[in-house]
Amino acid sequence: MTTTTSNTLGVHALVWTGQNDPQAVRDAARATAAAGFGLLEFSLHDLDGFDTAQAKADLQAAGVQVAGSRGLAPDADVSSTDPAVVARGADLLRRSVDCVAELGGELLSGALYSAFGKFPAAVTAAGRANAVAALRDLAPYAAGRGVTLGLEVCNRYETNVVNTAHDALRLADDIGADNVVIHLDSYHMNIEEDDFVRPVREVGDRLGYVHIGENHRGYLGSGHIDFPSFFHALVDIGYTGPLTFESFSSAVVSERLSNDLAIWRNLWDDGNDLAAHARRFMADGLSAARRA
Ligand code: MN
Repeated sequence: MTTTTSNTLGVHALVWTGQNDPQAVRDAARATAAAGFGLLEFSLHDLDGFDTAQAKADLQAAGVQVAGSRGLAPDADVSSTDPAVVARGADLLRRSVDCVAELGGELLSGALYSAFGKFPAAVTAAGRANAVAALRDLAPYAAGRGVTLGLEVCNRYETNVVNTAHDALRLADDIGADNVVIHLDSYHMNIEEDDFVRPVREVGDRLGYVHIGENHRGYLGSGHIDFPSFFHALVDIGYTGPLTFESFSSAVVSERLSNDLAIWRNLWDDGNDLAAHARRFMADGLSAARRA
């Protein structure tokens, strides 16, 4: 297959910093550009105190695009059956859309349909219907601000609403909005999917965002994720969207997010070396897949 298309390669801010104060954001934007990435993803778990105007200026100065991601919270969860909890979740989603728009971004993704965490039971029909309704309301709100919503497929220990690409497609069908896309993550796929090809083919042109992570979320290539199959599948469906490297270590901690994601281990110390390596791994993997 020959193509001149090159996907934008991104990096998650937790490779650089767990903070969102202006200096940390400026340093992260500069480090992102220096490592050769074109996009920086911020987790929006701490909306308060995020100086979005300053961040937007620093991102633009660095020539870096931006995306936002998040999961919801137990007391603000649109998949709850408690109307007050659902309302707080819907409000959190609207504020997150506003944050992405203020940053100059065009994508809010993640577990937008659920709190993060291991649930004690399967999602109820009423809870899922609440999530559908909330996201159906959110989609035009986001569209009005130029923001696309991504449904990240997360593993069973982080949500009970969407665990497979098939689940995400069904949820997107029920929401029924043009600005809702599917977001695949190799780390979660490794736990839930049959392989790294079928889900990509099933999602097809509804794929809007991709996270590239190892099975342990450390250095790419140091684990057992079948990246050649994944890159081949992405090339085969003609995916032209961003691919963002997601990695976490106890070396860089965001108290809230690190705990939500169960980041207990030190898988790396040097974010600069990790990121430079990931950039090469992703670019080389995609390039090889395009030539195959
Ligand atoms: Mn992810």
